[in-house]
Amino acid sequence: TKWVFQFREGSASMKELLGGKGANLAEMTKVGLPVPPGFTVTTEACRVFYAGGGVLPEGLLKQVFAAMQQLELQKGQIFGDRKQPLLVSVRSGSVTSMPGMMDTILNLGLNDDTVQGLAEVTNNPRFAYDCYRRLIQMYGNVVLGIDSYWFEQQLQRMKEANGFAEEREVTVEGWKSLIEQYKKLTEKHAGVPFPQNVYEQLEKAIEAVFLSWNNQRAIFYRKVHHIPDDQGTAVNIQTMVFGNMGDDCGTGVLFTRNPSTGDKALFGEFLSNAQGEDIVAGIRTPLPIGQLERELPSVFAQLAQTAELLERHYKDMQDIEFTVEKQKLYILQTRNGKRTAQAAVKIAVQLVREGILTKEEALQRIEVSHLDQLLHRAIDSSAEMDVLAVGLPASPGAATGQAVFDADTAEQWAKGGKRVILVRSETTPEDIHGVLAAEGVLTSRGGMTSHAAVVARGMGKPCVCGCESVRIDGSAFTVGERTVREGDWISIDGATGRVIHGSITLKEAEITPELAQLLDWADEVRELRVLTNADNPEDARRAREFGAQGIGLCRTEHMFFGSDRLPVVQSMIMAETAEERAKALAELLPMQQEDFEGMFRAMDGLPVTIRLLDPPLHEFLPNLEELLQRSIRLSVLEELGAAADAEDSALAGASEKEQLEQWIRKVRALHEANPMLGQRGCRLGIVFPEIYEMQVEAIFRAAAVCLSEGVRVVPEIMIPLVGHVNELRLMRQLIDRVVERILGEAGSGLAYKVGTMIEVPRAALTARQIAEQADFFSFGTNDLTQMTFGYSRDDAEGKFLTHYVEHKLLPHNPFQVLDTEGVGQLIAWATEKGRAVKPHLKAGVCGEHGGDKQSIFFCHEIGLDYVSCSPYRVPQARIAAAQARI
Ligand code: ADP
Ligand code: MG
Ligand code: MG
Repeated sequence: TKWVFQFREGSASMKELLGGKGANLAEMTKVGLPVPPGFTVTTEACRVFYAGGGVLPEGLLKQVFAAMQQLELQKGQIFGDRKQPLLVSVRSGSVTSMPGMMDTILNLGLNDDTVQGLAEVTNNPRFAYDCYRRLIQMYGNVVLGIDSYWFEQQLQRMKEANGFAEEREVTVEGWKSLIEQYKKLTEKHAGVPFPQNVYEQLEKAIEAVFLSWNNQRAIFYRKVHHIPDDQGTAVNIQTMVFGNMGDDCGTGVLFTRNPSTGDKALFGEFLSNAQGEDIVAGIRTPLPIGQLERELPSVFAQLAQTAELLERHYKDMQDIEFTVEKQKLYILQTRNGKRTAQAAVKIAVQLVREGILTKEEALQRIEVSHLDQLLHRAIDSSAEMDVLAVGLPASPGAATGQAVFDADTAEQWAKGGKRVILVRSETTPEDIHGVLAAEGVLTSRGGMTSHAAVVARGMGKPCVCGCESVRIDGSAFTVGERTVREGDWISIDGATGRVIHGSITLKEAEITPELAQLLDWADEVRELRVLTNADNPEDARRAREFGAQGIGLCRTEHMFFGSDRLPVVQSMIMAETAEERAKALAELLPMQQEDFEGMFRAMDGLPVTIRLLDPPLHEFLPNLEELLQRSIRLSVLEELGAAADAEDSALAGASEKEQLEQWIRKVRALHEANPMLGQRGCRLGIVFPEIYEMQVEAIFRAAAVCLSEGVRVVPEIMIPLVGHVNELRLMRQLIDRVVERILGEAGSGLAYKVGTMIEVPRAALTARQIAEQADFFSFGTNDLTQMTFGYSRDDAEGKFLTHYVEHKLLPHNPFQVLDTEGVGQLIAWATEKGRAVKPHLKAGVCGEHGGDKQSIFFCHEIGLDYVSCSPYRVPQARIAAAQARI
């Protein structure tokens, strides 16, 4: 097997085999960019390595050594040779980019002997020993598993002992003494010395990079980003170039556009006299790329040209890693840059305008779930703010939470339901679970391309970094005189870099012109209509602004929970006689009518699908526990009161007590063992027709009022939980009867539809019969999933479902991503059978799944007419529906 590919043998299309980094290094070599020569060990070798229990595949080392020989010829240097030592980096590189999650070792090939040679040929001993100490530390950490902390601690001590404030002040003697300490440290912690044999270094480094595929943070990152565990990583072995040889050297990161805002301007950072990891780890805060233009103009010009070339070549914004050695530019990596949702949208639209992408390609570029970021909170600039400090605006969006100072605490507190802001001097890949748990991230060191910033942008979390006035000390930080302790509330604004004391109110997001453009393009392409789930006029209006084409689900029960409604609803439920019930309903009617008027006005000209009452009645009553406690309290008060003022309180207490007892009786009577499968949905409407009658009356009275105002009303009445066609037939008769009564009264004709939720499997299976009675089918995928799997939604997640997903018994939580193989088949079947009877039967999905990309793709595929989702999901659904069609 061919395990090894020289850069000149590969290309960008070989990502699967060479990993993203390797494939792009090959591609750039082919294009003629200044890439230091090297070769890639394939991802296949990694998979074979793991399959064999952690043994390098046969023949691999032989191919590696042969490839090394070619590098030696190319460079005129020899690996392990004292006079002309060849040094290489050993770099991880997976198929899907996982920035910083795996390991890389630089300066490999140095030992006590070659370091002297390097000092001599470069005539720069300080540089040579700087490289060597870096190698021992990286090798010690990556290969021998020694915590970097120990090395950092020694470095710190050496600097203090010699009075060096910064690394760049360290002298050659300083590095030499540190190297001796590092060697001792290595032996002490690893039990073996740092290897002097350079071939041993190489072999162990390759193994270690393979092993880093399964380090904890990489596993965690893959889980969060849904990257398959069996891809494996490639290993890139590349001849070294040096940014740490002096002040006309350095290392940098360049984005071809601003990854935070999407603006078309080079964006990046440069750290002079430094080597690779220094910049990403945020060890020193680097200079903005503009500085390079002033200091090394010819390098900058070349860099700008390369940026342009790479962007056109890859048709996307690039994230480029480069090094300058004695004013000469080398490109060490390029990849499609991670970006915020805002930037993604802006860049996609700009690339279309620049003629680089088609509209369809631009739409495909949008990560739908990422748009959440755009459509969520920002700081309300009119709010009062106590600004503590200002750092770099590294990832936009605003967040408010309690300050925590380490990733584990962040995770624990978040699990306990708290909102937290993770505050770190800098983040390392080990903090990733804390970043995920936090609302936002604040760091005191590190630039816009530091680890914290990259990871936060990738996850869509607000981030402020490099906030140097923030001094972190254990679990508190100070800014000047002021102190913020663990648990104190702070806010950050990732758009401006502000760090704010206390919690602040966040305002709703708006649609930017670029997003509006993209959504227009999506509308040109898509076939699925996008409706919204809205229960009040406010949500309806917002959804309409987001482009909803009507209401697919209005849950009337949400209207019953209003503080002015609930007591009336309760007395309706408590009613002992038909008259009492009628009285309560009569009181509810005008309230419901008002609700519906608001909905119709907000959706003027668009369909409003109203679902009649669905949940079991006990949901509107206090729970038994609470009632019993109240009753006990009352008895105690009674006894106390009896002593004080016997007559009065005993009387008052008696009536209150009576009422309480009545409630307790009713709640007990309504109790069900399986309320989700009990007296709810149309079962309620059939047994208590007066409730549905009132609702229908309210709907059509509202319609009549709105019509008279000139509002175009399109009501669609939806019956929940139908399992048998007779249920729907009966409810349809009820509706027609009421409508005739009301509209007859109002004296106007009005087209309306009566349809049904399909959420009981039997309804799906008997769709043919049901369709005879229905003008539309709305698949209530929440209940349909619940009943098809037999999973109680309220119990499953906490109990076994999370376990199932973690152990891969199920590919997803079926309540989040539609189970296309099971539940989806019921939907497809019912739609087909229903349309066989009624070719124009309207069919769509409402429920959580209506806003999920994969589910939307499925809905498109089986030819549904619409999806209905929450207002904030509407823009995402519009784009996903377009993507489904492309
Ligand atoms: P990561 O995947 O974590 O970004 P890389 O393999 O890209 O790791 O290495 C990190 C950094 O190390 C690079 O950005 C670059 O600055 C430096 N580096 C890697 N290989 C070389 C090399 N051959 N010469 C000089 N610097 C290198
Ligand atoms: Mg890199
Ligand atoms: Mg339901």
